[in-house]
Amino acid sequence: MERRYIKDILEKGKEEKVLVKGWVHETRELGKIRFLILRDVTGIIQVVAVKDNSEFKKMNQSRENVISVSGNLVKSKQAPGGIEIVPEKIEVIAEAEQPLPIDVSDFSKTELPKRLDYRFLDLHRKRTQAIFKIQSVISTAFREHFIKKGFVEFQPPSIISSASEGGTELFPAKYFEKNAYLAQSPQLYKQMIACSMEKAMTITPVWRAEKHNTIRHLNESRQMDIEMAFANQEIIMKELEEVIQYIVRQVIERCEKELDLLNVKLKVPKGVYLSYEEAIKKVKGKIGEDFTPEQEKKLCEMYPDSVVFTHSWPSSIKPFYIMPKNQEKNAKYTEGFDALYRGIEISSGGQRIHIPELLEKMIKKKGLNPKDFKSYIDSFRYGAPEHAGWSIGLERFTMVLLNLGNIREACMFPRDRDRLVP
Ligand code: ATP
Ligand code: MG
Repeated sequence: MERRYIKDILEKGKEEKVLVKGWVHETRELGKIRFLILRDVTGIIQVVAVKDNSEFKKMNQSRENVISVSGNLVKSKQAPGGIEIVPEKIEVIAEAEQPLPIDVSDFSKTELPKRLDYRFLDLHRKRTQAIFKIQSVISTAFREHFIKKGFVEFQPPSIISSASEGGTELFPAKYFEKNAYLAQSPQLYKQMIACSMEKAMTITPVWRAEKHNTIRHLNESRQMDIEMAFANQEIIMKELEEVIQYIVRQVIERCEKELDLLNVKLKVPKGVYLSYEEAIKKVKGKIGEDFTPEQEKKLCEMYPDSVVFTHSWPSSIKPFYIMPKNQEKNAKYTEGFDALYRGIEISSGGQRIHIPELLEKMIKKKGLNPKDFKSYIDSFRYGAPEHAGWSIGLERFTMVLLNLGNIREACMFPRDRDRLVP
């Protein structure tokens, strides 16, 4: 007999012979009746045996044992899903050593660090699975949306020869006789592609050797990036608003069960646009400074169910490659923006400088040496149009969307200051 998925069996609701395989989710004994809840990736089903059933003894399984059950489906009002299996044969495929090192129930009492130590087992939990099923829908929706719009997906290198942005610390990597680093962003590469193929997108890992340990930073994260030629800040912010709306709509449509399990209610957000100056005044911040986490939260609370765009940031707090207003080297403000959602920054972006001379000036203004950026600057000498783009952190976005208290909940195998295993 061919193995069947539980969801399919429950949907058909037909009394027939079946073979199912999965994990022991729960067992119970009521006098002369034994119940076993079996779980596969699609759902759970009840197996029931009375004392004179040949498999009665084998119904006494440890939690998370992997078993196969063949038997007859019987309709039952008390069973979850309205149908249960009376077993004819139960076989153990793999035993789970007991005691389990972590609590694998939906509302596990095991603390996050210990759950991460045993992430392979934590992934048995429906709650953990729900997070990563939703994350998979997020990245798929992102890709779908831009592929439909004619973007080309590109694969940037992960090993680079020098800092692409300055600022954050890089992880050094030995590369034969040369010094190399792990890429902190695909910035340079996506610009080169926008300046040739016009519309570029990627989902790619990046590495930042930031030593701090926060609930919103990882040292290895995935970024969802786009870059477009003949675009400015305004055009690119609209692209971001639209893709977030598409992603949220897809998650609502495709992940009803998972959202219920996580107790998350979602609404498709609208875009709200404020200049940096307006926004920093609204939260009583200092002009020329980044928003503190508290100020980001406060600003979002003023606009519920919205993606809050703060645009036209001062050049002093944006990277050197962000285009100054009116392409003037002394302009105080830029074509750079941030986007906040549900209280936290989820994306940064803007129009880039495509004029080599201006780029050199801005690099110097930041106290950096244009010689260190020679190949970057040279890439704009042979027919480079104006272009703009942004980046959303995949784990950051997942965390925000699902109200997770820590970004590590949204990363299958997090890399942080202390964690390199598993
Ligand atoms: P933040 O101000 O939140 O530290 P950033 O401005 O340094 O982030 P960007 O360079 O703008 O980060 O990166 C683009 C996006 O990538 C951010 O908006 C965020 O969603 C995500 N991101 C940045 N750094 C990290 C990190 N260390 N861990 C996880 N996600 C990150
Ligand atoms: Mg940013």
